Amino acid sequence: MSLVEQMDAVTDASAGTVDRHATTQTFESTNPASGAVVGVFPVHDADAVNEAVERARAAATHWGELGFDGRKERLSAYRGYLARRMNELADLVHRENGKPHGDAILEITLAIDHLAWAGAHARKTLGPRRVRAGMLAANHAAYLEYQPLGVIGVIGPWNYPVFTPMGSIAYALAAGNAVVFKPSEYTPAVGAWLAAAWRAAVPDAADAFQVVTGYGETGAALCRAGVGKLAFTGSAPTGRKVMATCAETLTPVLMELGGKDAMIVDDDADVVAAADAAVWGSMSNAGQTCIGIERVYATSAVYDRFVAEVTAQVRSLRPGSDDEAHYGPMTMAAQGDIVRRHVSHVAASGRVVRGEADPALFPNENYLAPAVLLDVPESSPAVREETFGPTLTITKVRDAEDALERANATSYGLAGAVFSGSKARAMDLARRMRSGMTSVNSVLTFASIPALPFGGVGESGFGRIHGEDGLKEFTRAKAITRQRVALPVNLMSFSRPASATDAVARVMGLIHGRHR
Ligand code: NAD
Repeated sequence: MSLVEQMDAVTDASAGTVDRHATTQTFESTNPASGAVVGVFPVHDADAVNEAVERARAAATHWGELGFDGRKERLSAYRGYLARRMNELADLVHRENGKPHGDAILEITLAIDHLAWAGAHARKTLGPRRVRAGMLAANHAAYLEYQPLGVIGVIGPWNYPVFTPMGSIAYALAAGNAVVFKPSEYTPAVGAWLAAAWRAAVPDAADAFQVVTGYGETGAALCRAGVGKLAFTGSAPTGRKVMATCAETLTPVLMELGGKDAMIVDDDADVVAAADAAVWGSMSNAGQTCIGIERVYATSAVYDRFVAEVTAQVRSLRPGSDDEAHYGPMTMAAQGDIVRRHVSHVAASGRVVRGEADPALFPNENYLAPAVLLDVPESSPAVREETFGPTLTITKVRDAEDALERANATSYGLAGAVFSGSKARAMDLARRMRSGMTSVNSVLTFASIPALPFGGVGESGFGRIHGEDGLKEFTRAKAITRQRVALPVNLMSFSRPASATDAVARVMGLIHGRHR
């Protein structure tokens, strides 16, 4: 029996969630393509959340004792389980989020790769090591290790319901923590599936990864539940609320927030490749990608060719829920209203080029036509606010420096891209782009390289998932010293002779005083 069948077999379809303390209140998740109910889930209240965290705390002890090798083995069992059931999970993602099956497969593949990397690199990144004690403590041995924080609370969004939370979950587990995850109220079935898969694949540490379901109040309860850290992925306005709630208990936070990512197309760029990347980077997943390209700044040397190429490619794009559709519906109907507001604002002051697909034939109003937005004032909402839809602004700029200045003129700073024929120029622009990640001559590539950290600056958040930084994010650095031999004179004792500090001053003067 598949996990989905098992979940369907229980009346509330909450097989992977914390069900022992479910309140009587429930909510439905629906298929954005058809409105059909995907599952009914408990609204976990503060008591249920606290009990899940307490169970996770108990599980964290056993999980920690398994050591790096024991955890690696179990994380491998989990990724094997996900890999064998990839199609089943992709079907569920397609039904609940709306994205095409192929995009769901890609998302799951990335998550599996991160699970593998986190498990394989935890010991080397976090394990105990000796560091040099230095001259002042030469008679001591110095040790550094990174210890788990206990239970990590993870709150996730709906747009990449597997890949996004797994960026925190995989790294938190590999670092030795237990996890309680609250998925978005729009994708609880995917969250419940992931937790049910964990229980099936890792039965001897089943409570090390649990799911609680509900709305914002359930998330707020997780913030107050005494977790070691709260890893939040979502919008900047909700991030502010999460930080305020976590401040009540001085719970540390990781913030993975929204973006307004820009692409720079330089004079010598491969215009066809840049256009292809801009169209996919902005329209795939119906534009509901935190690191999606929302703005392009193309130099006057390439602007006309670039616009012609992008509009030609966009012309044939078609949203739908069939296998041939390029992207699916807006997962959250309210997001569609924001996209329509941004596009109609541009229609009044600039130009809107849409695809050829007839909106009258779209299955319902959750499907949006692709829209290329031209001659858009920099003050327009389509340039200033996160649109999160199948749209792209293209602006003509003097040169790449002008492009960089405009790209950086945003309160966000998640990611971005540079297309240029010159490696040195592209690398220079990438370094000076105010963002956590930049791809050169491609889009979004950094997300598929597990060794690279992922996270933003400014209103895009702080802290990092993925890579060594992502493992360390879920730990506390622990310093230990051990005296190897006692010296005749102990500087840190009231018994030290007065001449000892004079001698130290002379030695330090000789060593450091010559530097000017
Ligand atoms: P959202 O902020 O509306 O919700 C995110 C999560 O927070 C949901 O699970 C929600 O139930 C919960 N929540 C709501 N109110 C809460 C509260 N008061 N306390 C605690 N939790 C609360 O975001 P969304 O619409 O689900 O996701 C889209 C946003 O996420 C976009 O801005 C997108 O750019 C961003 N995002 C960022 C990344 C990243 O890695 N930086 C990745 C994916 C999505």
